[in-house]
Amino acid sequence: MITIDGSYGEGGGQMLRSALALSMVTGQAFTMHSIRAKRSKKGLLRQHLTAVKAAQQICSAEVTGAELNSLQLTFIPQAIKHGNYKFEIGTAGSTTLVLQAILPALLFADDISTVTITGGTHNQSAPPADFLQLAFLPQLTKMGANVELNIRRHGFFPAGGGEINVTVHPCKQLKPLVLIERGQEQQRFATSVISNLPSHIAERELASLQTKLGLTAEQCRIQAVRALGNGNVLLLAFADEHVTNVFTGFGEYGVSAEKVATLLAKEAKHFLSSSAAVDEYLADQLLLPMALAKGGSFTTNILSDHCVSNIHVIEKFLAVKFNCQSQSNNVLIECIYQDLAISPAII
Ligand code: ATP
Repeated sequence: MITIDGSYGEGGGQMLRSALALSMVTGQAFTMHSIRAKRSKKGLLRQHLTAVKAAQQICSAEVTGAELNSLQLTFIPQAIKHGNYKFEIGTAGSTTLVLQAILPALLFADDISTVTITGGTHNQSAPPADFLQLAFLPQLTKMGANVELNIRRHGFFPAGGGEINVTVHPCKQLKPLVLIERGQEQQRFATSVISNLPSHIAERELASLQTKLGLTAEQCRIQAVRALGNGNVLLLAFADEHVTNVFTGFGEYGVSAEKVATLLAKEAKHFLSSSAAVDEYLADQLLLPMALAKGGSFTTNILSDHCVSNIHVIEKFLAVKFNCQSQSNNVLIECIYQDLAISPAII
């Protein structure tokens, strides 16, 4: 039984999702205490609980502590089962974060699976579904996976009601990813996604981005979507030779469209001024697949707290070590497989 202190590092939900994913893939049981202890609303929220229950169903796990607000969880997995799954968060909680917990296991199932998750598709502090489509999944494809994600309906906080549908083909072994340079820029584009709000919000966001980042009108588009409630996200993508990075700004009441665009442009410029291949979010999300592939490396512009705590969890389950080295204009993260297995990893 692996014991994890959920308050380690930034002490957030990602540590739980990584533990669930790795427990399912390796067959090792774990217990986590002090779950999300560093968050103002501690313990399991709807999104985390849905992830636990989804993981439980997929590998017939024996679970204790799977209750709302629970600070402690024990998870004893059995074999991973492919299937056609449907999980409802019941709030605007992030569908993509529920997927984060179960996708690795389904990659190692013995046949194809489909997963439908309802809730939020574009949430603050979570990967927007477009981020997975444009940035994360293409890297997973390079590693040998075949996963298709469709946004059936957009869902924004607080109304939710969004739906993603994901098809996961089995993959016997992931291949190491080496992503040191982003390569030549192929194109950059911005999309303002808007639901039940005046179109001038999207127009002003895009106009502001055009000025700040030298985008042309052709590189900008408004995507009006049908959703249960109001919502607005501003997506900015840099499609380079080896990787696409996606930056997201969230429209909020009381925050002007220009402000949303300004903050987003600042984040993007910080990234562009580095020589990093991936941004801080793609960085923390690539760690787990890289470890399952038993190796790989990439550069990022920021070594986030999420990266550090995710590494802590991954090294508890798998026979890998991560080296993080600050270089002049980026941070190099290398995943090294420990030949003489020092952890009880199964892979
Ligand atoms: P908590 O409420 O405990 O913080 P959480 O379940 O919301 O928990 P975190 O532990 O904060 O989750 O993890 C958030 C995840 O969302 C990370 O994998 C991070 O990379 C990703 N993420 C956050 N913001 C973005 C963004 N703008 N673009 C892409 N991914 C993002």
